[in-house]
Amino acid sequence: MKKGLLAGIGIGIVLTLATLVFLAFSNNSDSSVENIANKEDVYYPGTEELAPDEMRVVALGTGMPNARPKQAAACWLVELGNGDKFLFDIGTGSAERLSAQKIPMDYIDKLFIGHLHSDHVGDFDALWIGGLIANRVTPLRVWGPTGADPSLGTQHYIDNIKEAYKWDIAGRTGNVDMRGAEIQLTEFDYKGENEIIYNENGVVVRSFPAIHSIDGSVSFTLEWNGLKFAYSSDTYPNKWWMEYATDCDIAIHECFASPKTMIEKQKFTPGEALPVATQIHTSPRQYGKVMSAVKPRLAVGYHFFNDFDTAPLVFEEVRQTYSGPLSLAVDYMVYNVTKDDITVRMSAIDEDIWPSPSALGKKPAIGERIIFTDFIMEGRVNYSDIIKKYYDDINEEYNSTVPYPAGVE
Ligand SMILES: [Zn+2]
Ligand SMILES: [Zn+2]
Repeated sequence: MKKGLLAGIGIGIVLTLATLVFLAFSNNSDSSVENIANKEDVYYPGTEELAPDEMRVVALGTGMPNARPKQAAACWLVELGNGDKFLFDIGTGSAERLSAQKIPMDYIDKLFIGHLHSDHVGDFDALWIGGLIANRVTPLRVWGPTGADPSLGTQHYIDNIKEAYKWDIAGRTGNVDMRGAEIQLTEFDYKGENEIIYNENGVVVRSFPAIHSIDGSVSFTLEWNGLKFAYSSDTYPNKWWMEYATDCDIAIHECFASPKTMIEKQKFTPGEALPVATQIHTSPRQYGKVMSAVKPRLAVGYHFFNDFDTAPLVFEEVRQTYSGPLSLAVDYMVYNVTKDDITVRMSAIDEDIWPSPSALGKKPAIGERIIFTDFIMEGRVNYSDIIKKYYDDINEEYNSTVPYPAGVE
């Protein structure tokens, strides 16, 4: 393992870089500081090709159902050296973290949903329709569990989110390449025990039950090229995880806030905090027990507000029950996994993100555009001279021949 494994925070990187720069100034008679910093200490999205046998796992949401700028809700990206990419959960706020990875959206077409809490699916619309308008021209493929009855399953969720967004889709039809608007859902039995739900291109994803909230939560493993990734989504400690996540290379399991933190920071009563932290979720001490049993090469804990004043207590409580390799994740933490090594770094983030062009190529707008009624059209105020000047200027600059729109003389 390389340095930084235990730190779990980006501050160490910043301090390391600052120290290097300071040393450069203080010890080097040459005043140049070029090439002093080791670029490999930080992950710059879009600049590193994976080795053929390498897996990269990126934390795109490590927080809670409560929105906050620092941490989106649950979302994990797994990228493989064979070019495949997989999302596990798409919690509220995670789509913007995904955009920061600078990956053409055509490659982001596979989503595995662990359960239907908003902090695990809250940005589904941003992935689906946001992906469509960010140049994804492939259908969005989704895998999610059944529920105890059909109205509690992923099929019901997808059917109804399509219903809810009819106005959005209707308005885009005829304006953009709509191939990315299609959703291909595979709903699988939440009771499946280590069932294969995906098997393509040398990648196998399996599902097994989780115990969280009500029936219908699952956890996953992804195996490829001798490497095994395990993701709990949310769960109480359970026998399936103990059995099927054992011996994985990287285990991402929820590690909820300490009940004490929920009382003091979140203003829960003890009667509210204790059941949530220890019965619906996995508390830090329970998490440590789970990891001591499963013995991953690296244990990753997420699903708490990971701050300077909360992380020490989580760390201390986990350490009461687990002494192995540990990372307490924050958003934009990046794990590179090979058979020989697992490294942990923070990403450098460019906030001025624009969508990447389609890697596969767009087609002209598909479908019949729905036109306004006369009632709305007659309300338009047409600044024809201004519109014509835009068309003339752009057509001249880009050597295009876009005709004036209807109603502009
Ligand atoms: Zn949940
Ligand atoms: Zn959750």
